[in-house]
Amino acid sequence: MVASSNILTYVALSRSMQRSGPRGPKRSPTPTSTTFPTSVSGGDSMPPPSPSSTSAPKPLYLCSPFVEAALVKGNFKTIVMLPKYVDIMEWVAVNVFDFFQNLNMFYGVISECCTQQSCPSMSAGPALNYTWINQDRKSVQLPAPTYIDYVMTWVQNLLDDENTFPTKSGHEFPPTFPQTIKHVYRQLLRVFAHIYHAHYPAILHLRSEPHFNSLFAHFLAFGREYELLDIKDVRGTPGQPAIGIGALWERWKDMGILEGQ
Ligand SMILES: [Zn+2]
Repeated sequence: MVASSNILTYVALSRSMQRSGPRGPKRSPTPTSTTFPTSVSGGDSMPPPSPSSTSAPKPLYLCSPFVEAALVKGNFKTIVMLPKYVDIMEWVAVNVFDFFQNLNMFYGVISECCTQQSCPSMSAGPALNYTWINQDRKSVQLPAPTYIDYVMTWVQNLLDDENTFPTKSGHEFPPTFPQTIKHVYRQLLRVFAHIYHAHYPAILHLRSEPHFNSLFAHFLAFGREYELLDIKDVRGTPGQPAIGIGALWERWKDMGILEGQ
């Protein structure tokens, strides 16, 4: 195929450019001063109409101004769309690579506050703990830093595996690629969820909430666009009030920065 070498050049180029391709042109030169557009369904200083907000204090990441802090203005639909002449597998691969690198960088910065003592479980909300499936297919509780280390090492190994993420000309993506990406996506979502739940003060302390919010909103928009993300994993149990990042997702939908579904 004539086009494939161009795509590979593009992929190689974006991977060598600090993986900033898809977001680059949309970045604001003054990151901390940009906010998401204000709510389309009421004042943005109002709490979300969630029944759960009466029972527990609202997490900081759902509060103004943090919930609106962003590097990207407007809806994320435009930056997740498949560019012309780019193969969809390549587009998914390069974006997942980008999400992983950025998330890994954030976690690296805050990892000193994520210890066996501070985070004895992989929690993402008051009653939400993720379990790890071990080699015997048993579901086990792990301290968050161990869990996240397993996830990041596993994803890094996949990214480095030429059979899973082919980078050389003539190498095709395996038929299992979509399934693999969905697994990766679900696990990266859990890492985001843990950081939001347990380490948001550290993100605020670094004044990185615009960057972190934009990364996560981009990750969600991309995951929904290419059906890599099961809505149940984001939103929680259907019919129940959304908790944790599910509430954040709903808030961003209300604000018009994420699509309805
Ligand atoms: Zn932690």
